[in-house]
Amino acid sequence: MAQIYDRVALIGLGLIASSMCHAMRRAGLAGEIVGYARSVETRDVAREIGLCDEVFDTATDAVKDADLVVLCVPVGAMESVAKEIAPFLKPGATLSDVGSVKRTVVDAVSPHIPDGVHFIPAHPLAGTEHSGPLSGFAELFDNRYTILVPVEGSDPHAVDRLTTFWRGLGALTETMDPDHHDLVLAVTSHTPHLIAYTMVGVADDLRRVTDSEVIKYSAAGFRDFTRIAASDPVMWRDVFLNNKEATLEILGRFTEELFALQRAIRQGDGDHLHDYFTRTRSIRRGIIEAGQDTDAPDFGRSKARKE
Ligand code: NAP
Repeated sequence: MAQIYDRVALIGLGLIASSMCHAMRRAGLAGEIVGYARSVETRDVAREIGLCDEVFDTATDAVKDADLVVLCVPVGAMESVAKEIAPFLKPGATLSDVGSVKRTVVDAVSPHIPDGVHFIPAHPLAGTEHSGPLSGFAELFDNRYTILVPVEGSDPHAVDRLTTFWRGLGALTETMDPDHHDLVLAVTSHTPHLIAYTMVGVADDLRRVTDSEVIKYSAAGFRDFTRIAASDPVMWRDVFLNNKEATLEILGRFTEELFALQRAIRQGDGDHLHDYFTRTRSIRRGIIEAGQDTDAPDFGRSKARKE
């Protein structure tokens, strides 16, 4: 694939940014990749492994002359970073982000965008429970959706260019309105994470009673929860603080369903349980047919990539 941007600047050098670096290099999408991270430790690691062509000590230096700037920091940090770099963005540049929530990012960042800069928020629906500059890998976005969330009046050419860039990173792309994005993600990602955190928390409480048997005999279901619940606490704190309404709405529905299943168990209503589990099984089939997961037992994890 041909080069799409001359100079790409990544602000924040964690899992998503480092995966973008590897995937950009794999496809030759950028003439030059530069980066900035808040801590000296992260900048040192990024320099040691040659993650970017150049790592800067300030965000403002990193964004100068960049054609594409991507904010790869937790959702709660987007506004302060955007405010800091805004006066240094090149006219005609595109500013994007990879935040897991879109409405609050759009509202917080938009007021700081100077005229002549295209702000096009985005969210790659790909990740792992690992963080930091060493956790990235080129295949992270392959065949996974990246949702672009163009704001009102976005330049269609700039949107097309960013879309081509994400496709070059291996992703499938879709555009969405920010509120719709947040509702969809509340169902598919945010609430499931909260449930995983809760289940692992319950098991942790029980650990005292069962004397580590929870760990020793952890079965596939629980192990999947623990993997999800090992995700970065700052990132996920910010997701719930910023996607409050949609996650509360989905949690409300979840609780109603849980009570219905609880009642079915108490009343020995096997038909209800069987019908419910039949319906949910077909959702899993739909995901596999859409090419968004593998049908292998244990998600093909034994031989799989690090997801
Ligand atoms: P990560 O590996 O934890 O990296 C986060 C980066 O942001 C680090 O370089 C960190 O700097 C920097 N940072 C943290 N707090 C900051 C602050 N207050 N000001 C400036 N920089 C700050 O995180 P990630 O998984 O790449 O996530 C980055 C973004 O992608 C988040 O918005 C997240 O919602 C989104 N996202 C994540 C996933 C996922 O599964 N992980 C998937 C899709 C989208 P230091 O290293 O110097 O502390």
